[in-house]
Amino acid sequence: AGGSKVRVFIRTRPTANFAQDLIEYLPDRQTVSIHQEKDSRKGVIDNQLSSWSFHLDGVLHDVSQEEVYASVGREIVLGALEGYNGTVMCFGQTGAGKTYTLTGATESYKQRGIIPRALQEVFKEVEQRSTHTFRVHLSYLEIYNDSLVDLLVTVGGCSGAGPGGMAVVEEAGGRVSIRGLSLHPVHNEEEALSLLFEGEMNRIIGAHALNKHSSRSHCIFTVEIESRSRNLSDANFVTSKLNLVDLAGSERLGKTETEGQVLKEAMYINKSLSFLEQAILAVADRRRDHIPFRQSKLTHALKDSLGGKCNTVLVANIYGEAAHIEETLSTLRFASRMKHVQMDPIVNKHTDP
Ligand code: ADP
Repeated sequence: AGGSKVRVFIRTRPTANFAQDLIEYLPDRQTVSIHQEKDSRKGVIDNQLSSWSFHLDGVLHDVSQEEVYASVGREIVLGALEGYNGTVMCFGQTGAGKTYTLTGATESYKQRGIIPRALQEVFKEVEQRSTHTFRVHLSYLEIYNDSLVDLLVTVGGCSGAGPGGMAVVEEAGGRVSIRGLSLHPVHNEEEALSLLFEGEMNRIIGAHALNKHSSRSHCIFTVEIESRSRNLSDANFVTSKLNLVDLAGSERLGKTETEGQVLKEAMYINKSLSFLEQAILAVADRRRDHIPFRQSKLTHALKDSLGGKCNTVLVANIYGEAAHIEETLSTLRFASRMKHVQMDPIVNKHTDP
């Protein structure tokens, strides 16, 4: 409908050590400013400051999970019920609050994140919309070192393809699916939530088994919705995919971590995040006819969600401590490059033969 930009929000993690000399949150002006001291060891002028201001669609500072959902999630969820694909993606360094924003604090219902709230809203709407019937399916994909892992493969006796058997495939019409990824029908909020938590557990257990931190992978929780009129003479129906994406921590390597598993993980993460940015920017540049989606599993899996035809929100999670100022700056720079990307969402319409 007329096209819209990718919406980009900053969400801040509360901290007792807030670096008030370096970071300014200006939620009323949708702005975050960074004042960074230049390295005085270079001996030019002591305490010379560089300032940057980032103006985004919103600065979610000191706001509740409910308000975050209302700003970031609701519109996309309601769009998905109408047949628009939607994506909410959280980006930022490890510890900045991506999982908190998407999933929430597992031990606290009040602090549940965007995914549980989205599931609640989907089923509330499904119950209220008496003119239509809905089918809802869930899947939960993890991408670690560019390989695909099914986080729900152990659930309910569903068989996935096992390791190595999964692949991103493009169907006619550009729809992307993951061969071998288990897809679970759900009929109410409780069923959906128990799958989400099962997947979260598998994510943690899997990370343990591989001796990795769970923030070293990308996770895509997908809600697929099909909606049909109850009027049986109507052969049209709409489908959509709602992707809720928890990206791997974007931090750069410490100087000591120059070998082994950590280095390999970091290389995959850096590459996939930079391919993600390239793909999104290529979509924005309308003169480009080739978009490099196949460069990584992440961009390939998200192709039909990044291709300019869906509602997209990016949440850049930041952590306002002095020690993280470089990472915060790089997260904000990424966020502000993304905000110019134009989207033209379309409804995924189908007709029964
Ligand atoms: P990430 O997924 O980016 O690595 P997490 O979501 O795991 O970060 O957050 C790190 C820690 O900070 C967690 O203990 C989380 O509960 C807490 N946290 C993050 N954001 C917030 C917030 N907005 N309010 C309260 N606690 C938060």
